[in-house]
Amino acid sequence: MFDFVCGMELEGETEFRVASAGRDYFFCSTHCRDEFAADVETFLKTEPIIALEGVHKTYELGSGGAVPVLRGLSMRVYPGDLVALVGPSGSGKSTAMNIIGTLDTPTSGRVRVLGKDISGLSETALSDLRSKDIGFVFQQFNLIPSLTAIENVMLPRMIRGQAGPETKKRASELLASVGLAARSGHRPMQMSGGEQQRVAIARAFMNDPPIILADEPTGNLDSSTSGKIIDLLVDLWQKHRKTIIIVTHDPHVASHAMRVLSFEDGRLMRNHGLAEKSIWSRRGHDKAGV
Ligand code: ADP
Ligand code: MG
Repeated sequence: MFDFVCGMELEGETEFRVASAGRDYFFCSTHCRDEFAADVETFLKTEPIIALEGVHKTYELGSGGAVPVLRGLSMRVYPGDLVALVGPSGSGKSTAMNIIGTLDTPTSGRVRVLGKDISGLSETALSDLRSKDIGFVFQQFNLIPSLTAIENVMLPRMIRGQAGPETKKRASELLASVGLAARSGHRPMQMSGGEQQRVAIARAFMNDPPIILADEPTGNLDSSTSGKIIDLLVDLWQKHRKTIIIVTHDPHVASHAMRVLSFEDGRLMRNHGLAEKSIWSRRGHDKAGV
């Protein structure tokens, strides 16, 4: 059993393996494998922005039992990727997202975010990484009820002591970019679920982080509102070239994503051909200046 990890060196046999210069590389789909084979050099030069290697997470229960949730998860995400995580409820998607977002720690295995091994970081360094480099979007929106829309968007800077006019200007531009310019003085209670999630998305972009993690951002929304939220995230991703990981079953994401990674029992199963685009072809476009 092997994870399909887009280019990690692992031991074992799979149809997605490519041997190059004496090393074995593994891919999530034949498409990624073929793109790799066409441009090995670019691949080898590019550092993943997020890399999990052999990550295990086991929850110890008070009764003495243990629940293994992640069982040797390995995956790589490259700068500018839009990755969709799918899989049944309880398969470990949120646990993986929380570990990537440094909100939780693995029981064993290695996690690198932006080139840093996060197990070696102090609590201060982790909180710095979370606030500067990662934007979170949650299923429950997680807005502060007593703050207005614009104050909620400003929050990631306010907590770092930066509540000046520049912060306000940026928050207001972000609210406009999610279509809520007219709602900046409204509190969450006065807004629909879709509008609250737009505010939360604007907040995630406040510090201009390179990474956005969205865990079932449309899980509490009706299907037409969900479609609009997903379109908004895809649109922002195209404009800002962030690295975005979205846990979702929405087919919109699958059609835009570089890769769709399927979780099952705390491991990655192979991409079942949902995503036929990949970072490799996009890099090709970048090189040509498109
Ligand atoms: P998903 O997001 O794919 O639905 P999760 O990562 O939330 O899955 O959870 C995976 C499994 O881990 C579930 O069986 C869940 O009950 C268990 N789990 C999550 N958090 C805890 C915890 N704090 N203590 C014990 N079990 C947990
Ligand atoms: Mg979940």
